[in-house]
Amino acid sequence: MAIRKILLYPEDEPGLRKISEPLTGMNRQVRKLIRDLKDTLANDPRGVGLAAPQINVHKRAFVVRLGSSEDSPPEENPLIVIFNPVILAEGDVKRDFDGCLSFPGLYGKTKRPHYLNLSGLNERGEPFEKEFHDADAVMIHHEIDHLDGILFIDHIEKMEDLYRIIENEDGMPMRVAVSDALSRGDDSTILNRHR
Ligand SMILES: [Zn+2]
Repeated sequence: MAIRKILLYPEDEPGLRKISEPLTGMNRQVRKLIRDLKDTLANDPRGVGLAAPQINVHKRAFVVRLGSSEDSPPEENPLIVIFNPVILAEGDVKRDFDGCLSFPGLYGKTKRPHYLNLSGLNERGEPFEKEFHDADAVMIHHEIDHLDGILFIDHIEKMEDLYRIIENEDGMPMRVAVSDALSRGDDSTILNRHR
């Protein structure tokens, strides 16, 4: 088990913004990367996807938990590692829920394709081509962005689309718009950098 530190925004922004390099072959280092990505994602109950640059490894690789929007308990969905992803076709662009392990507690509405035809390498280094739909397509699109240093806040069109989930006095989760939090002086870093 190797659970790696996840880079956080804004303090680790340089690492999150760096462009990742394609994988050129399978070796011991790559197999360690696969294990680290899976261990680190499995360790976080909120996590459905994690890209290599988020653990400060700038290789074009990510791990996702497919089928996360379905009713089955998330731990039953296998973790899939994909290398060198290339979007061959995309469509069905809609607004949907977005969040990121590098932005704990922050969520938003972004527009992303809900259909992707993707090529890449699987975790054995074998080429594949596969179609993804709905939440799986959204999640993969989010992870591919990370490989190019693009973060979900870059897709936020207006501040009202960004919110935090906090616990109220009864311990129940509650949404707070970032634009409201701002008037209280919180979240100013995100806004300053975003605008
Ligand atoms: Zn992310």
